[in-house]
Amino acid sequence: MSVAFLGTGIMGAPMAANIAKAGLDVRVWNRTRAKAEPLADVATVADSAAAAAEGADILVTMLADGPAVASAFEAASPASGTLWLQMSTVGLDWSDRLAAAAEKAGVVFVDAPVLGTRTPAEQAQLQVLASGPEEARPAATPVFDAVAVKTQWLGPAGQGSRLKLVVNAWVLALTNGTAESLGLARGLGLDPALFLETIKGGGLDVGYAHVKGGAMLSGEYPPAFPAGLAAKDARLVVEAAGEDVDVAGAKAALAHLEATVEAGHGEEDMAALYRAVIKER
Ligand code: NAP
Repeated sequence: MSVAFLGTGIMGAPMAANIAKAGLDVRVWNRTRAKAEPLADVATVADSAAAAAEGADILVTMLADGPAVASAFEAASPASGTLWLQMSTVGLDWSDRLAAAAEKAGVVFVDAPVLGTRTPAEQAQLQVLASGPEEARPAATPVFDAVAVKTQWLGPAGQGSRLKLVVNAWVLALTNGTAESLGLARGLGLDPALFLETIKGGGLDVGYAHVKGGAMLSGEYPPAFPAGLAAKDARLVVEAAGEDVDVAGAKAALAHLEATVEAGHGEEDMAALYRAVIKER
């Protein structure tokens, strides 16, 4: 089975490496070639998306957003009958548009965003939220098994993107809530670390608060999930909710993330939204 893998960023590089290590024949392409080069030991580094996709049985996309995926898919121009596993987070509208582009090209489309961040991607411990035609499952399974501990098949294409937004609303709320509690402690003259110490091990505790809160306390934000992409996801949550659901928490997280990006910290981890909460100058 040959796999063309487009997008070797924070998530894509370790995912492509794990697919290759599982024994599949992998060709990678990345807009900035230097980020694909380290994969040369396990995969073929292609000069273009089209060169990666030529003759491939499966196309995987792991790019920033819907427009990036659409342009890479167009450039790749995979042959009719190719199986496309679209694993980037693109939201509902773009998932539909990409499905339509696949249909036009005679390509089988599976909407399959992932849960997990840099370390789970490196350790093949992601969760795949897959949706698409039943007949795609046998060929998709070796790829998903190579990157994930768990794959859920959720029905027709688009259901995976729906669940991804639901979970990301929770991730955004946790990160923003952690930042606000730490910021409030600081503002009230308490040691902010007291917040994490106080919830630790009790019913209010959650591991994510310590991961993101630890970064906030240290003031160091090496990117696991860049703030710019988290802002993109917050926008996707708000758009998807539309007029029917009040996602005030996602909007609050979005405001802090946008301020963080505007201050020039979009490539830092999303935990850097703490900078906006404490009005760091
Ligand atoms: P990343 O490191 O910033 O990588 C983004 C990738 O998209 C890079 O390969 C980048 O190429 C490419 N790209 C951006 N704009 C492009 C364009 N116009 N044309 C072609 N390529 C373009 O991000 P990541 O964290 O790996 O995220 C990838 C996807 O996974 C996103 O949809 C993200 O929301 C989702 N995701 C991320 C996480 C996480 O924790 N990081 C978790 C789950 C899902 P260059 O290298 O040339 O810039």
